[in-house]
Amino acid sequence: MATPITDPIVGIDLGTTNSLVAFVRDGVPEILSSREGRTLLPSVITFSDEGVPVVGYAAKGRKVRDASHTVFSMKRLLGRGFEDLKTAAQGLPYKLLPGEGIVKIEIAGRTYTPIDLSAMILKELKLGAEKALGTPVRRAVLTVPAYFNDSQRQATRAAGRLAGLDVLRIVNEPTAASLAYGLDRKRQGLIAVYDLGGGTFDISILKLHDGIFEVLATHGDTALGGDDLDFAIAKFVAEQLRARDGRDAFASPELHAELLEAAEALKIAFSEREEAILEIASAGYRTTFTRAQFEQLARPVLERTRQPCLRALQDAGLKPSDLSDVVLVGGPTRLAVVQRMAAEIFGRTPNTSVHPDEVVAAGAAIQADILAGNNKDFLLLDVVPLSLGIETYGGLMSALIPRNTRIPTVAREVFTTFADKQTGVDIHVLQGERERVEDNRSLARFKLGGIPPQPAGIPRVEVIFLIDADGILQVSAKELKTGREQTIEVRPSYGLTDTEVEKMLSASAVNAEADVEFRKIVEARNDAEPVLRATEKSLKQAYRLLPKDEADEVQRRYEALQQAMSGKDGAKVREACYALNRATAKLADLIMKEAVAQTVEPR
Ligand code: AMP
Repeated sequence: MATPITDPIVGIDLGTTNSLVAFVRDGVPEILSSREGRTLLPSVITFSDEGVPVVGYAAKGRKVRDASHTVFSMKRLLGRGFEDLKTAAQGLPYKLLPGEGIVKIEIAGRTYTPIDLSAMILKELKLGAEKALGTPVRRAVLTVPAYFNDSQRQATRAAGRLAGLDVLRIVNEPTAASLAYGLDRKRQGLIAVYDLGGGTFDISILKLHDGIFEVLATHGDTALGGDDLDFAIAKFVAEQLRARDGRDAFASPELHAELLEAAEALKIAFSEREEAILEIASAGYRTTFTRAQFEQLARPVLERTRQPCLRALQDAGLKPSDLSDVVLVGGPTRLAVVQRMAAEIFGRTPNTSVHPDEVVAAGAAIQADILAGNNKDFLLLDVVPLSLGIETYGGLMSALIPRNTRIPTVAREVFTTFADKQTGVDIHVLQGERERVEDNRSLARFKLGGIPPQPAGIPRVEVIFLIDADGILQVSAKELKTGREQTIEVRPSYGLTDTEVEKMLSASAVNAEADVEFRKIVEARNDAEPVLRATEKSLKQAYRLLPKDEADEVQRRYEALQQAMSGKDGAKVREACYALNRATAKLADLIMKEAVAQTVEPR
């Protein structure tokens, strides 16, 4: 007789399109049935007029018939702000309301946050698991795309809590997939996990050896997935409809939903067939598409996976030929055109042997089993997807933890004040790869006060960043002389612009040069400023202590540096600063001697 299960830890894959829950029984991961008796739970919620939610296939069936009461692809909105959603919600037919940082969705006269809605899906999974296991389920491991930022992870964790789950760990989806892949086959070597889901794309490079799963690098795009393939088809059809009868198919939520659903069905058909029919009954539209036509629409979307793959390889210091396997995960990887794209990028035929829908949940369950104290031979070493740092003088980000650093991790750095008698410092926590503060995601701001007034550069403020195993950040700052400390858990407003993370990495490559230039000028200015200020104070003494021509020289060099500082050329600032330093060397010496003479003079 099987031993009864008590207080199980389940693994949950909260997907854009479908969600699953799994549990390891006697060392074997098993996908648990939903209350609908299926393994997949469509991540779709439909509401009654009274606001009662229904999740799953039942809701999926109402996507078209009752579009105004039904929501889907919530994961695309999780942890994002209103501004952001101009791109992330492209193709989603609902009304988004700007909230206080957090975006809200209006459905049938009520408003919900993406966290509320994700929690409803998680609650349904929890109920399904309880039914399947015959015991209450209170603890879970959740997965997120590796490329989720801090705010998206926090939002996921919040949704878990809202669903009544103690979220013991957040695991990156490709890492979870590799656990399931590695466990199954006891594989070793370097693998790439190409994970294209409904709404997100992740690429992770891992090293598997002796039960250790070590993530070497990760990259991705949190707004790219199968949904975009549907949208590309829907847009094509909408253009045809507009040409035919001049109306905008996207203007009606019903037609919009119908269009997307028909597009998805067409896409799925091409994973098996060469030809398929797309029909929009309400618009009297019916056309046969060939696979080649579909692939033409799909290519530009899939091309967007190339760059992240190349950057991940680069970050891992590897060439495609170093890999022993490329593992495909996610529904769209069933499409030949996606498999070809992965083959093209990595120069090898990818492995399609894992179950693309179930592998992530299975991996989450394995991690849950490890946390439960079983499976002791496994060790998971994951990394941070984006660099974390703080704002320093001059509007620059100083990274404390570079991306792809192994987690959990701690970083310390000592900063100082820039002005005399400064008694407080503002700590501005940032995430991203760019040089300038404004180009990165602002995670939090706090102020450390009570610094004893001292000359600029004397106080020492130690900033500590701690990233836990979930990839969530905690920051603290301490003034070392007084020991005054402040700790904050970084609580993002869940409502930040998408431009941020997406732009951060892609733009960091494109703008690397501009960034470097900007860093140069700002750093040069930072170094030159104290020299300017010191000279300012001593200019009067220059005319008293130095011959006139030498004092004039100091004055000229001083003005030249001032002028260089207002320009954009870092090298010029450095040169001018060096010249001013040289011109004032003698003066500094004389001032020092005079000061010493005054202090030792007998009274
Ligand atoms: P996932 O997030 O891994 O559940 O993937 C969901 C995405 O996979 C959605 O965009 C689905 O339309 C897509 N999908 C599911 N099955 C297939 C299939 N057989 N062929 C192509 N795409 C699929």
